[in-house]
Amino acid sequence: MQDILDEINAELSSRSERGKVATYIPELACIDPDQFAMAVVLADGRTFSAGCADKLFSIQSISKVFTLTIALGKLGDGLWSRVGREPSGDPFNSIVQLEHESGKPRNPFINAGAIAIADAIMMGHQPKETLAEILEFVRFLANDRSIGIDENVARSELLTGHRNASLAHFMASFGRLSHPVEQVLGVYFHHCSISMSCQQLAHAGLFLVADGVNPSSGVKVVSAQRARRINSLMLMCGHYDGSGEFAFRVGLPGKSGVGGGILAIAPGKASIAVWSPGLDTVGNSKLGAEALEMLVKRTGWSIFGN
Ligand code: GLN
Repeated sequence: MQDILDEINAELSSRSERGKVATYIPELACIDPDQFAMAVVLADGRTFSAGCADKLFSIQSISKVFTLTIALGKLGDGLWSRVGREPSGDPFNSIVQLEHESGKPRNPFINAGAIAIADAIMMGHQPKETLAEILEFVRFLANDRSIGIDENVARSELLTGHRNASLAHFMASFGRLSHPVEQVLGVYFHHCSISMSCQQLAHAGLFLVADGVNPSSGVKVVSAQRARRINSLMLMCGHYDGSGEFAFRVGLPGKSGVGGGILAIAPGKASIAVWSPGLDTVGNSKLGAEALEMLVKRTGWSIFGN
């Protein structure tokens, strides 16, 4: 495994075409695109990495996997009356489907869906309490208490978040939010601004590898059925309108973020985190997807077989 990761790192480090960093969040626009990191945690807990795997980056939409897991824990199947589970085929911040579908977001991973999830998990609590709960859950999953929120990124998102504010107000106009829009957006922007390293992220994803149980600690996080369902949503919706392409090329459940990270799950085998800040045209890490494609080719880990 270490040889494979070293090879991928060496091959990708010479790439000049690295995609473009997200600029609509000013704080992310100044990240050096020439960075790469990858970490693999096997089901037995052994960890391998390449590149700057301890460097913190903004996990952005990858946090939606964790908020979805919390929401399912709180609402169970009741969650599906608030958000759907179909791929959108539209950009992550699109508003068009919302109008046709009475303000019910297509899935939990597009922005509108994640905003609806943030609202669902607040349950009458203040944004600070909800954020503390989300952060506590992520720290527990990664077994790392140092994980925190980058306030500069959160502020930057808030100041330029007109599109997300539109989505939230639009949903509110259909009576779909139970808390004030400003509070829901505060929770959403802050959980997107959690900073993690590839090492931490790969550890946090481990419960999705082994039927909901963290194999290294033996702790059951969710039921086997729930883990399977979260993985299926990641496969179908985790890369927005690039989900089909990602499934075609990589063949693993995965969740991307505009910070350039991707969390991918090889069920029964490994949790993988990769980071390269340059994005493709639909907002997914360009080299991140390539690295995963190379890893799957060499390991035969695609869920569709070797
Ligand atoms: N916080 C980002 C936004 O709301 C998340 C988008 C993403 O990572 N795709 O636009």
